[in-house]
Formats: sequence, C-alpha cells, structure tokens
Amino acid sequence: MGKRFDVAIIGAGITGLATAWHLERLGVKKIALLDPLTIGANETLACPGLFFGGSLDNFTRSSHRHGKEIAAALWRFADESFDLLLSFAEKTGVPHLVYNRLRLISETDELNEARQAVSQLSACGFTPQLSLAIPHPHLSSMGVQRDGGRGGWLAPDKLLATLRRSIAAPTIRHEVSSLRLKRSGIALQLGDENHEIHAEIVVLACHGGISKLLPVFREVLVPVASQWLKLSVTGDFPATMAELDVGVGSVFSATHGNRWGGVLPRALLAGGGNYLRPLAGIGQLTSCWQENIAVHLEHWIAEQFAFKPEQLVRELGGVGVDIRPWDELPVIGPMFAEGRILVASGYMGQGLTLGFNGGRCLAQLIAWGEAHSLPRILWPERLRSS
Ligand SMILES: Cc1cc2nc3c(=O)[nH]c(=O)nc-3n(C[C@H](O)[C@H](O)[C@H](O)COP(=O)(O)OP(=O)(O)OC[C@H]3O[C@@H](n4cnc5c(N)ncnc54)[C@H](O)[C@@H]3O)c2cc1C
Repeated sequence: MGKRFDVAIIGAGITGLATAWHLERLGVKKIALLDPLTIGANETLACPGLFFGGSLDNFTRSSHRHGKEIAAALWRFADESFDLLLSFAEKTGVPHLVYNRLRLISETDELNEARQAVSQLSACGFTPQLSLAIPHPHLSSMGVQRDGGRGGWLAPDKLLATLRRSIAAPTIRHEVSSLRLKRSGIALQLGDENHEIHAEIVVLACHGGISKLLPVFREVLVPVASQWLKLSVTGDFPATMAELDVGVGSVFSATHGNRWGGVLPRALLAGGGNYLRPLAGIGQLTSCWQENIAVHLEHWIAEQFAFKPEQLVRELGGVGVDIRPWDELPVIGPMFAEGRILVASGYMGQGLTLGFNGGRCLAQLIAWGEAHSLPRILWPERLRSS
C-alpha cells in the first residue's frame, strides 16, 4: 500500500504551486506535489511573465456570447486575480513592474468594437477609456483603449521559487501515469513503476498532461503552439510611446490579442503571430521557433511605436504550447460526477494571473466547499454532454 495524502496536486507550475500554497494557508497539511520537473515541460517557467486584468481579447468577445453579466463577472475575476498576484509579488519581493493595460487599435472594425466594449464596460462599472485618432505622422495606431492600471510583468522563475520555498509539501519527482478511482480514495500510479500513492482529493494542475490523465478533456483543452521574443532597446523609447502612455510595466495587445507585448526597462517583449503557423498552431503538441513570426513581430513593434530600425536588437525568445479551451473560457473547478478531482487550466494567455487565483479557488473549494469569487461558468460542469 503506497503513501496516503489528503490532497495530491499533479503539476508544479503556477497552478499547482498556488493551489498548494493556498491550501496550506487554509490549514490543509497532508499534501503531495507531483511533478517530474523535467526542464522544458513547465510552461510557467517558459513564459515571458506578463500579467494583466480583464481579458486578452476585448470585453465584447465574451459579452456577445455569454451576455454582459457573465462577461462582467469574468472580467472582475481577472481583475481580482491581478490584484492578488500583485499583492503576493509585493509582499514576497518577487521582481515586478506595473503600469497600463492597453489595446492598440489600427483597423476600423477594431475601433467600432472598442467603442462598444468601452460603453459596455462603463455600464458594468469599469472605467475604460478610448483615445481616438492620435495625430502622429509615424504612428500606426488610430486609437488606444486603456483598461486601467492592471498591466504588469513579473519574473516567472522567481515567482515559482518563492512559492516553492514557502510550501511545506514534498515534491515527488515522478510523472503520474494514471488515476484509479476507488471508494476509499484515488490511486495515482507513478511513472512506469509499480508504485502508487493514494489521496482523498486530486488536483489536476498539469497543463497539457490533463488530457492524458482524463481523456474527456482531449477535445476541450486544445493545445496551441506559440512563441515570444525580447527586444532590447538602444537609446530612448520613441515619443509615440509616451503619447500612447505605454510606460515601463505596460501590457499591450492588438488584433484581438493575436499579438501582444509588454514594456521592460530598455526592452520590449512581443508574442503571438500564431496566424503565421500552419493551422495557427492549433492542435500542436510541441512548438517550434518560426523565424518569419519573429521578424513579423519585430516589424510590428518597430512600426507600432515608430522605432528607428537600429534601435531594436533581438535578445532572446521562447516557444511554448498554450492550452485554449474550445469555448475560450478557462476551466477551473471540480469535475462533474467526480468532485474528488479538481482541474484548472486553459487560461487564454493569462496563466500567471488566472493560475494564481485558480489555485486559490481550488484550495477554497477543497477546504471550505465553496469559492465565492470563482464564476460558476468556469466550472467543468459546462462541458458535460448530458
Ligand atoms: C509562448 C507563450 C507565452 C506565454 N506568455 C504568457 C505570459 O506572458 N503571461 C501569462 O500569464 N501567460 C502566458 N502564457 C500562458 C502560461 O504560460 C500558461 O497558461 C501557464 O504557465 C500554465 O501554468 P500551469 O501551472 O497550468 O502549467 P505548467 O506551468 O505547464 O505546469 C504544469 C506542470 O505539470 C507537470 N506535469 C504535466 N503532466 C504531468 C503528469 N502526468 N504528472 C506529473 N506532472 C505533470 C509539468 O512537468 C509541469 O511542470 C504563455 C504561453 C505561451 C505558450
């Protein structure tokens, strides 16, 4: 008989570590964290570290589909997630920067959408602003939507190390190869070995590994290959950035979040451009570096902010596989028909922010049986077929 735990958390990225950290603070102590910690498998460590409130795409994307009330609840949840993560970074000394969250608008249909989004957001009590037709000979933007001061960057490696240091639970360095439900608990088989542990409750915080353990998620949590790069800046940032109020710490996005970036001291981050991948990267289990995307992102940044060509130098970049649910809403909560298994994934490009709060909500569900701030629409129950 293998060791027994109250809670087994599979995955030690932001979701798993945040769940463990919050569980311990809620008094749950007999926890096991399982992760082989293979270099390259952890998307949190591979990401560039932007965190932000609201959502990557505009408010109208979810208000059209789910109505304004649900869209506002989702927006509020993301804003709360940003505030919680920022507060954690401030208290624990995780290096971070914070400034504006901006949408750069360069097409007429985006402008129309931003008008609608700003009007709907204002009606729901948020305070967005739309600045139009900024007159500048070099500026490619015809407007900018400011969603407030909830944009930021933090160091993902320091965030994970800080969480890890303050968790007492041991990390069992094994891949979980299968789950077996028993009346007395859940058996987790470790690797290929004939080695099991048992837990009352299991948290699936293992990103792409979730679909392998629970095949019901295969068609729900869709992998999408992506990449990002860091450009160091020589000389001053162009005046256009000040005009758009894109200061250090800002997060910006364009074309429905298909391109995104952030501002660091003397550097810019840029990512996305997946539309240049075969099938937009959808369904890819691994990601590869595409030079045409890197060049495309460099041109976008240069043109968007009117950089002189010699000012931007590529410093580094990264590739990764994000998980996007088929209905574009994160999946956070207990499994339908099996409340002893909880899941959190599919954060639509906001894994740091939503993963931290997602872990907190799972911890509350386990310790208290409820998580007030978690919008019910995010629970996996919406995915059941009957
Ligand atoms: C190119 C790119 C850029 C991104 N940029 C950002 C960004 O700037 N900001 C942002 O918020 N989000 C960003 N994201 C999304 C973000 O990286 C993810 O949403 C987030 O890291 C997911 O965290 P997680 O804890 O759920 O998964 P992970 O961090 O991947 O952790 C899962 C862990 O589970 C382990 N695991 C998997 N299967 C098993 C198993 N069977 N048994 C045991 N362990 C297992 C893995 O080893 C891994 O360590 C980006 C994504 C990509 C692809």
